[in-house]
This record gives sequence, C-alpha cells and structure tokens, in this order.
Amino acid sequence: MSQSQSQPGSQVRRVLVVGGGITGGVLSVALARKGVEVVLVELRTELTGIGHGITLQGNALKAFHDIGVYDRIAEKGYAFGNLRLRTADGHVIAEIPTPPMGGDAVPPTMGAVRADVAQVLADEAVAAGVDVRLGTTVTAIDDRGDHVVATLSDGTTETVDLLVGADGIRSKVRGMLGIEAEVHPVGMGIWRVVADRPADMECSEVYYGGPKYKAGYTPISEELCYAFLLEENLDRSFVGEGPNGALLKERGQGYGGIWGRVRDSLPDDAVVNYQWIETVCVEDPWYRGRSIGVGDAAHACPPLIAQGAAMCSEDAVVLAELVTSGLPVEEALAAFMARRFPRVKMVLDNSLTLAEWEMHPDTPGADPGRIMGQTLHALCAPA
Ligand SMILES: Cc1cc2nc3c(=O)[nH]c(=O)nc-3n(C[C@H](O)[C@H](O)[C@H](O)COP(=O)(O)OP(=O)(O)OC[C@H]3O[C@@H](n4cnc5c(N)ncnc54)[C@H](O)[C@@H]3O)c2cc1C
Repeated sequence: MSQSQSQPGSQVRRVLVVGGGITGGVLSVALARKGVEVVLVELRTELTGIGHGITLQGNALKAFHDIGVYDRIAEKGYAFGNLRLRTADGHVIAEIPTPPMGGDAVPPTMGAVRADVAQVLADEAVAAGVDVRLGTTVTAIDDRGDHVVATLSDGTTETVDLLVGADGIRSKVRGMLGIEAEVHPVGMGIWRVVADRPADMECSEVYYGGPKYKAGYTPISEELCYAFLLEENLDRSFVGEGPNGALLKERGQGYGGIWGRVRDSLPDDAVVNYQWIETVCVEDPWYRGRSIGVGDAAHACPPLIAQGAAMCSEDAVVLAELVTSGLPVEEALAAFMARRFPRVKMVLDNSLTLAEWEMHPDTPGADPGRIMGQTLHALCAPA
C-alpha cells in the first residue's frame, strides 16, 4: 500500500515501534501497509530464532489475516478445532469445540513454531518497508505535544508522531513514560519442550489430576509438537533453557497417554525451557501524550487460555486502525483504550482465576471448564 492510502486528516505519518516481538511485528506490518513510515528498534540482533511452540487462537489468526500474513503462517502451522481434556493416566474426560474467535476465514486454533511466526513477521515487515534497526533501543523520550523526539542508543534521534512501546512484560518504555506497574509471579512455573509429533496427536490436550498442576501439548507442525508441564514455582536457579530432558522426564512422571509417550521419547539432553509464569496489568490508560505501551508491555496474562499473543496481535491491529483513521492522536488513543481495556482485562482476570483454580482445585466454586468456555465465547465478538 502507498502512503496515499492512509486516511485523509490522519496525524500519524511516522511511528517509532520499540520491540520486535509479536506485538511490534504485527503493528509494524499493519502500519506500514497503511502507508505509515515505521522505524522498528529491537534490542536483540535478530528478529527470529525464538524457540518453542505457541497456540494461536482464532482471534490471533484473524489479526494475522487482517495484516496479510496468515497464509504464510498457515503453510507451516497445524490447524485444529477442539481442546481435549484427559485424566493424568490419559483417559479422555471431555472434548470441547473451540468457538470461532476469528470468524470463518481462519480455523479456530493453530499450533505454530514461534520461530516460524517471527520469521514471517520479520520478512513481511521488511517487505512492507519498515526501517528495522537491530541491536538498538530508545534511551530518551521527549514529548513535544505535536510530535515526539526519541533518542536511540546508536546516538541518532527520531522525530515521530507516535511512539509505541512493544517491549514486553519488563518494558523499559513503560518506566520512561512514568507508568508504574508491577510484574507479579503467579505462583506457577512451566517446563516446555519441542518434540516429535506423534501421529495420533491432533489437537491441544491437557491432563488434569496428576502429580503436578497440569500437563499438556499442542501440535505445532506436521512434524513437531510442544509439550509442557505446569507445577509450583521452583527455585529461580531452575529458570532458563538448557539440555534438561532428563530432568523434565523425572519431574513429569505420573502422566500417561500421549503425554507419557512424548516424555519417554525425549533425549536426556533435549533442550528444555523452565520459567515462572508472571503477570502485569497496566491500568487504563496505557499512554502518556503521544507514547503508548501495548502488548505484554501493558498486559501479560498467564497462558492458561493461550490468549497472550492474541491480545497482543489484536492491540496492534486496532491501534494501527485507529491512528490511521483520521482522528487526532489523542482521540485515537482514547478510542483505543475504550475498545481494548475491557476485553484485555476480562481475559487477564479470567486467566488469573484459572491459574488460582489450577493451583487450588478444591476452591469452592472452582470450574475451569466454565470460565474457559465463557472467555472464548466472549472473544467471538470482534476486537
Ligand atoms: C510460558 C508462556 C507460554 C505462552 N504461550 C502462549 C500461547 O500458547 N499462546 C498465546 O497466544 N500466548 C502465549 N503466551 C503469551 C505470549 O507469548 C506473549 O503474550 C507475547 O509473545 C508477547 O509479545 P510482545 O511482543 O508483547 O512481547 P515480547 O514477546 O516480550 O517481545 C518484546 C520484544 O521487545 C524486545 N525488547 C525488550 N526490551 C527492549 C528495549 N528496551 N528496546 C528494544 N527492544 C526491546 C525484546 O527483545 C522482544 O523482541 C505465553 C507466554 C508464556 C510466558
């Protein structure tokens, strides 16, 4: 799309996006395709190479579809339309169809290799003309009312109409804007590993009632799946990634079914990631003047409903839509908050409730299936 395609009267012609994860990637492509000049700064020296798998719900897929990258992601991903619940020994308890959160154009859910998603977003950003600066960050933000002057770590300055912090849960931009928000551990830790996909693994499945909070997996391509194990927070020294297949096999004892088979197939030196589940919620508004934090920089939810990246991608698409709608920036940002905050807060609150119930299943009234179903049905309404 050419510059002339941005709406008449739009005050947003040039944007600095800080952070090239899913949020920054989707936003950069969305803005560039609407004719906005985008500078994307990313601390890492590459946009790709992130490991693991991800479960992309229909509303994430719709966001990818809206910016024109869905087909490429779908080429490699593994689509399915239900979630299966099992007991720890592998017996099926229930099969829940996933509601069509992305409408008819995309499947209800897709598993994907994170690196594949990152690669597509990186390629499409470059193809759309985004000026990508790797190994770079923002060191100062000077809001001058009708524009922002940002100083970058390479010593250059950028004069932009809007600055967007898409720099993740520990966002530096958030602090630079004077927005206070505390990152909290939820009380759960998660082990994740990529493994070969057994032929009979066809959808996301979770195993309840075993020795740990929950085990599960998602197929992420024809060949691969990712498996996870959720348990209490272990000592911080466990956090990180390394050749810990043997350790995961030991900690994952007590689960049968396909999960048990995947566990047993892991080489002792399989690369395993362990991290604490953390959360942050920035209260409304997420912006100060012409700078805003979005994605995990504003709201990180525990991945119990697999909605984190979906909320991030929706943020990006809605923000791009509103700041190119012709509304003055302040009105566009206020309209963005009105559309995004209630939806994001609902997902965040319900994910936190689910986490509590999974840690304390004897809580009176605990009904994980109900809250998960309610959340996913509510998300069938457009973002
Ligand atoms: C264990 C786990 C499992 C999950 N599983 C799922 C799932 O299955 N489905 C789902 O939808 N969601 C899932 N999520 C959530 C999802 O991964 C996140 O919501 C999403 O990736 C956040 O994207 P982001 O771009 O906002 O932030 P990030 O992915 O954190 O990206 C931020 C980017 O900014 C860069 N950066 C950081 N600081 C700076 C700086 N100062 N300057 C420049 N660049 C900077 C970083 O290098 C990074 O590239 C999961 C989360 C966790 C923790």
